[in-house]
Amino acid sequence: MVHVGIGYDVHALVEGRKCVLGGVEIPHEKGLDGHSDADVLMHAVCDAVLGALGQPDIGRFFPNTDPRWKGVPSRVFLEEAARQVKAQSGRLVNVDASLIAQAPKVTPHVEQMKQNIGTALGVDPRRIGIKATTNELLGFIGRGEGIAAMAVASVDLPEPA
Ligand code: MG
Repeated sequence: MVHVGIGYDVHALVEGRKCVLGGVEIPHEKGLDGHSDADVLMHAVCDAVLGALGQPDIGRFFPNTDPRWKGVPSRVFLEEAARQVKAQSGRLVNVDASLIAQAPKVTPHVEQMKQNIGTALGVDPRRIGIKATTNELLGFIGRGEGIAAMAVASVDLPEPA
């Protein structure tokens, strides 16, 4: 039976940090603030996959108070989500995500992001959807203070015995 999960994340844009989105380091005057590499897109995808499994969010697996996760690439979190799918004898069917950012432009990097997320999750990148939109200059995203991402994931799970 196919189970669906949802994920949402937001990180602040600050000076002196790299801007990593979907595992791609994108040249930008600001980067995302956070304990890990703050890859907001991978975090939303991770929560969507975990949500489909009925698992708690990424922070329960990787507390941001734990120095082990300081500065880690977020593909580590996706790899754990993929392990959780396997642990429940599941199969990840697809992921779809939207990035909401006033800047930088992400469309040129979308194919690489799909590759990175697909590789981390162990699925064909053609099963990963990524769209990007601006926030029409409205609110904190529109002012370039942060970037948000949302994602859904579907996981085929065996019927409980
Ligand atoms: Mg996050």
